[in-house]
Amino acid sequence: MKILEDLFLPTYFVNHFSDITPEVLKEKGYKAVMIDLDNTLVAYDEANSNEVVNTWFNALDESEIKIMIVSNGKYDRVSAFSEPEEFIYIDSARKPFSKGFTKAMRAFGVYPHETLMIGDQVMTDVLGSRRVGVDSALVRPIKDKDALATKLNRFIESLILKQFNRKGLVNWRETIE
Ligand SMILES: [Mg+2]
Repeated sequence: MKILEDLFLPTYFVNHFSDITPEVLKEKGYKAVMIDLDNTLVAYDEANSNEVVNTWFNALDESEIKIMIVSNGKYDRVSAFSEPEEFIYIDSARKPFSKGFTKAMRAFGVYPHETLMIGDQVMTDVLGSRRVGVDSALVRPIKDKDALATKLNRFIESLILKQFNRKGLVNWRETIE
């Protein structure tokens, strides 16, 4: 079913966000990155950032690639994670709805084709990106366990990925190639 691919197929399958380097982003023509928080940057129940996250944010910063956290998490969670590190963020983004994405791109002054969304969920991160014409990298969840609200999405996601897998569309790679 082509419609499944149009809605849910990520542009890339990458193991971990840190595999996506500033060099490869530039090579692909991306000027900005929107990234999910829970189970993409850290596990959903980890309150704080860490060395790997900070190093990656710094590297993008130094390469003048814009980076913003776009999370469905509530203000308290997302601000407590982001503000100590001075990360730019949008909380309560309501992905897959487009508002958070368009807000982020407008703030950065970039077009959808210059932007990459990185996230661990097909039903929110990938679907939302496709709706606004943004490429997406699906990453493996940091932790096998999810917040309760994510469980139904994960079930549907597993059916979709099974379908993609059958068609040979699931290609996990080292980076966005
Ligand atoms: Mg997530």
